[in-house]
Amino acid sequence: MSSSSSQALKIGIVGFGTFGQFLANTMIKQGHTLFATSRTDYSHLCLQMGIHFFRDITAFLDADMDVILLCTSISSLSEVVGSMPLNCLKRPTLFVDVLSVKEHPKNLLLRVLPEESDILCTHPMFGPVSGKNGWQNLTFMFDKVRIKDEVTCSKFLHIFESEGCKMVEMSCEEHDKAAAKSQFITHTIGRALAEMDIKNTPIDTKGFQTLVELKKPVMGCSFDLYSGLYVYNRFARQELENLEHALQKVKETLVQTMEEGQNPEKTES
Ligand code: NAP
Repeated sequence: MSSSSSQALKIGIVGFGTFGQFLANTMIKQGHTLFATSRTDYSHLCLQMGIHFFRDITAFLDADMDVILLCTSISSLSEVVGSMPLNCLKRPTLFVDVLSVKEHPKNLLLRVLPEESDILCTHPMFGPVSGKNGWQNLTFMFDKVRIKDEVTCSKFLHIFESEGCKMVEMSCEEHDKAAAKSQFITHTIGRALAEMDIKNTPIDTKGFQTLVELKKPVMGCSFDLYSGLYVYNRFARQELENLEHALQKVKETLVQTMEEGQNPEKTES
């Protein structure tokens, strides 16, 4: 689906790693004009994709874009935004972030961006594995933190709406609370299963096959991303404790059952 010229945006991606590239593919397909900058030199790849790559951040900001899309790792956002000469911006610009935590970018962007810049905090709840066959019915969370230019914001949101995403507007705080209970726990269990090196057996149940499948998308994410879910989400610590307690409780129930004489080895002797 390509965007009509009135819908087309000039989008500058900051952080052209796995996720930045993944989003760029769909945005190009829709007819938007893309620019990129990153710590690593992606000029060759960008040339193949039809994206103008800038090594120099000042020249990047000079390109006069409608949207600056922040796709860096969670832990590097503050350093990356801090190194941008924001006084080079030619006009009010919409800043969008896609970090998997939301209170951290919201607070940072409100603190450092010029008052005239708009801020849209978002989290596409999918990635290159779950979104490899399109984004239909995949969830896109967003919070209009500071929006004066509703037209540009709507055009940006339309990128995801038009791909069939389930659009969910919620506050960054609500997001972090929910994501600590859902995404962080999923990644933690996936990593624990990988640590146990679980593999398919000849007698897999459907449930076990689901657990083996869980490892793939989770282990496909960088450790930077996973650790960011914990370090930069104030609700994650409690959820990790809840998980530890729950596992302990399940174990205690089993041990107690054995001690109460339901251990077949004990009853037989
Ligand atoms: P990531 O490991 O979280 O981030 C990689 C990106 O961060 C690359 O562009 C990398 O730049 C940049 N980066 C890392 N350390 C840096 C530093 N010290 N200074 C400057 N740049 C640095 O992996 P990702 O999967 O691409 O995720 C990018 C963002 O999207 C994250 O905030 C993540 O939470 C969010 N997100 C990811 C997914 C997903 O499924 N992967 C889904 C939703 C949201 P270089 O490549 O130039 O080294």
